[in-house]
Amino acid sequence: MLIRLKKKLAAGEIEAVLELARELSLSARFVDPDREYLELTGPGRPEHRSRFEDLSSVHSILDMGASRELHERGPGRADTQVAVGAARFGGGSVSMIAGPCAIESFERTLEIARAVRERGALCLRGGAFKPRTSPYSFQGTRMKGLEILERVRVETGLAIVTEVLDPREVEAVGDAADMFQIGSRNMFNAPLLIEVGRTKKPVLLKRGFMATLREFVLAAEYILSAGNTQVVLCERGVRGFDATSRNLLDVAGVAFLKRNTHLPVIVDPSHAAGRGDLVRPLARAGLAAGADGLIVEVHPNPSEVHSDGNQAISPAEFERVMADARAMAQLDGRKLVEGTPQAMKGSA
Ligand code: PEP
Ligand code: MN
Repeated sequence: MLIRLKKKLAAGEIEAVLELARELSLSARFVDPDREYLELTGPGRPEHRSRFEDLSSVHSILDMGASRELHERGPGRADTQVAVGAARFGGGSVSMIAGPCAIESFERTLEIARAVRERGALCLRGGAFKPRTSPYSFQGTRMKGLEILERVRVETGLAIVTEVLDPREVEAVGDAADMFQIGSRNMFNAPLLIEVGRTKKPVLLKRGFMATLREFVLAAEYILSAGNTQVVLCERGVRGFDATSRNLLDVAGVAFLKRNTHLPVIVDPSHAAGRGDLVRPLARAGLAAGADGLIVEVHPNPSEVHSDGNQAISPAEFERVMADARAMAQLDGRKLVEGTPQAMKGSA
């Protein structure tokens, strides 16, 4: 590990860094006569970076060496692939999650599930618990929504991706979910991250809409360090200055995360766009930047829904998104892992 110290430190300030190195059983050596660059060798641990960054005399960590954090790719490290039902994210596989924003009626949820399954999606999305900005907005159908999801899973065979808002509800949501969704508003909720980290179930971690990429990967680190390796990162747009789109899809962020972490990265073009007509082009941009899949809001009649109607796309538009994904995955030597209508017929 290579650390850059601040210039003109007092002897005591340098000693604090050396003291920490001793505590962590690392040997320390200054590489320059000005005692600005300090090389540490020894048994590397993921917690070393933050321990040194917390010291006021440290300017920056230039190289992590063996003290890599759990999300980091590191030299030669292959992609982690996350399986959710029949879907596969990462490691050359691209998969699709689609469905309504919120779970409302059983009949509508089943209809949408069948529509997206027929077009190749292997996971159904839909929130039973909704993280609304206003406490007066529709908060979801809650336990009733979870029951609907369980019934739809049995009917369709689709894997269920649904949001958990509260550490106390991880167990109940886990009964209905094949993958936990941690929403943008909860990316900084460490107790919730730790609680889903204690399960072995895949977690879809959405980026906070005001979170830096460093904050995003550190949120993933909470889940990984609690023992759950099945984390998929989701870029869903960050807050911008122009209300034309709801958020700004950080395409560079997707490319950066693919390069610097071994975790699968997917894109949510629906919450980035906030309007149905921009969902398909943003989906294409995400895939072009290397995304391992998409999570898309689909509804046949957006005017009837209680949340995010403006950004839902029709099943016919979703079919076009699937065709794009199939072609784009193939372009980079990857594969869209999807359901085939023939194979699914028996379970309809
Ligand atoms: C959602 O997926 O419906 C949702 C609330 O997304 P986000 O947390 O990204 O706002
Ligand atoms: Mn939504």
